[in-house]
Amino acid sequence: MQSIKGVGPKTSVALKSLGIYTKEDVLNIFPKRYTSYFLDDDTHIKKGTLIHPPILSRHKVLKVTFKLQIEDFILSCVAYQQPFLKHILVQGEKYLVRGKFDTHKKIFIVSQLKPIKYENKLISVYDVPEIKDHRIHQIIQSILSEPIEDTLPFYLREQLNLVSRHQAYQWIHFPKNEINIDNALNYFKVEEAWHLFKGIMPIKKRQHLKLTQFNQIEQYVQKLPFELTEDQEKIVHHIVSDAQKIYPLKHLIQGDVGSGKTVVAFLVAVYFMNQGYQVALMVPTEILAIQHLETMQTLFPNIKSVLLTSSVEHKQTIIDNIQHGHVDCVIGTHMLSSKDVKFHQLGLVIIDEQQKFGVDIRKNIIQKALDQDVMYLTATPIPRTLLRSILGDTTIETIQTLPKGKQPIKTISVSYDALSGIINQIKQALIHEQHIYVVVPAIDSDHVTYNILHTYHVLKSHFNEDLYVLHGQMPKHEQKKIVETFKKSSQGVLLSTQMIEVGIDIKTATFMVVLEAEYFGLSQLHQLRGRLGRGNLKGICYVVSKKPEDERFELLEKTSNGFEISEHDLYLRGPGDLLGKVQSGLPPTKFLDFIEDAQLIQKTHNIYKSMK
Ligand code: ADP
Ligand code: MG
Repeated sequence: MQSIKGVGPKTSVALKSLGIYTKEDVLNIFPKRYTSYFLDDDTHIKKGTLIHPPILSRHKVLKVTFKLQIEDFILSCVAYQQPFLKHILVQGEKYLVRGKFDTHKKIFIVSQLKPIKYENKLISVYDVPEIKDHRIHQIIQSILSEPIEDTLPFYLREQLNLVSRHQAYQWIHFPKNEINIDNALNYFKVEEAWHLFKGIMPIKKRQHLKLTQFNQIEQYVQKLPFELTEDQEKIVHHIVSDAQKIYPLKHLIQGDVGSGKTVVAFLVAVYFMNQGYQVALMVPTEILAIQHLETMQTLFPNIKSVLLTSSVEHKQTIIDNIQHGHVDCVIGTHMLSSKDVKFHQLGLVIIDEQQKFGVDIRKNIIQKALDQDVMYLTATPIPRTLLRSILGDTTIETIQTLPKGKQPIKTISVSYDALSGIINQIKQALIHEQHIYVVVPAIDSDHVTYNILHTYHVLKSHFNEDLYVLHGQMPKHEQKKIVETFKKSSQGVLLSTQMIEVGIDIKTATFMVVLEAEYFGLSQLHQLRGRLGRGNLKGICYVVSKKPEDERFELLEKTSNGFEISEHDLYLRGPGDLLGKVQSGLPPTKFLDFIEDAQLIQKTHNIYKSMK
């Protein structure tokens, strides 16, 4: 550092203590903000000539007083706590002062003073401890007096109209105007995106698994109690044939709630298991795990499948069986990712509702697979650019169409006035042996009228023994029991928190009432109503709120397209909420905003791909 003009031993030490060792590091001390010294748009800036030497006074307070001649007017100035001004100010020189006029004392209180050369400039402010901004300016200026190598390919810069790296640094530190800053930022954003793409680990070639063609898939498909949709069939074949290639699977199956992702995943799982490899299916809740296990055992009775969650009985035996290869398919919660669970020959990891898991959990379980084959399932469409940053180069498969005979769900947004009518409708439905969900946002919160406690009392008087209650504070085994009895009962009303959002699959569920709907996100409401129409009965979802004409609810009434809905949600709430925990899986960025800069990221990615 000391080879740079303006850096003495003292500055060098100060820089080191900030972790700044190289010229590059200095250039990358980006300004925290800019102060402008444009005379016309800031009435608190004055320009004048110093007419007397300044006077330093230490009486009571430390202050420097001086007078500036501004045209034919003399401005008396005072600067507090800046004794060094006494030595800097030169009589006869012109200065810019920023401050406030004290009309009472008739004096201009100076907060900042700059030589005239700053006039009409934007000055970068760094706020670095121990080193003054003007020193940083000096050092950077000196570094920028030499050429700087470009790190981005020329083609990329040309395509995206980017300035050179040297110019970008020049403009970020010494802009002439706002446009300079924008152009510089644009450069750094692309640079960041570029390195992000370069940093995504290329998938390693297959090393362990030997997967051959397998014709029995058709037999399994034939045995299903329903016909696969075109999309389902196509995706199963895609994935199975991809698995035979030299790279392991890294596929994401996107599809709206109820589009039938599970069976697609299971068929691929069967393909792996039939070649002697284990499959692990990780899901966010125990209820969903049980549900999947039941589906697996019904659809594929020959497969040795087992449940593993933190609350199963004989856990150790199950874990031992997994390790010794006595089971083919393990279905469970995040517990599967724990160190204690070892596999015999894990071929494939399937992560359902992937947006519910953080990076570490996903990574831990994927690493257990021999070649790290992974398949993600999600009903929450994530913008592709985001996805790449989260999951790397993933192949995305989308199920567009819902299974035949799937009844559309009618959504109706109403106010609380409609409640008694709805209760009567529920009574009618119960006569026809149907299942009804009533969903509320909280268990006993005071913020909402319709929490579990209150709603229970309201419903109890109407439905008595047909009423079931489910929420997250109940012990796990009780939750399980409730869901089972509700499912087995000929009819019933299940009062629940949003925990039924994923999983529960009851074909005779026809009715849903979401109370205090404003407390739910748009995607969440969409996911919730997806619990209906699972069989061939029509579903009606009442969304009850104080503001039934809210645009969010209107959108729900209008469209059943989950992609449209989650896109809207993304704009309304930002990615943090939508992606939940996955947000923590996004790489930290200095310049890029994954939503705002989505287009720029996409363009950069396209060029990246074309140049690879
Ligand atoms: P999701 O994509 O939301 O996970 P599921 O896989 O749970 O949806 O499927 C929803 C329901 O649709 C399940 O009851 C499943 O058995 C059923 N299903 C899936 N595929 C078909 C199909 N091709 N025809 C009829 N029903 C289907
Ligand atoms: Mg599902």
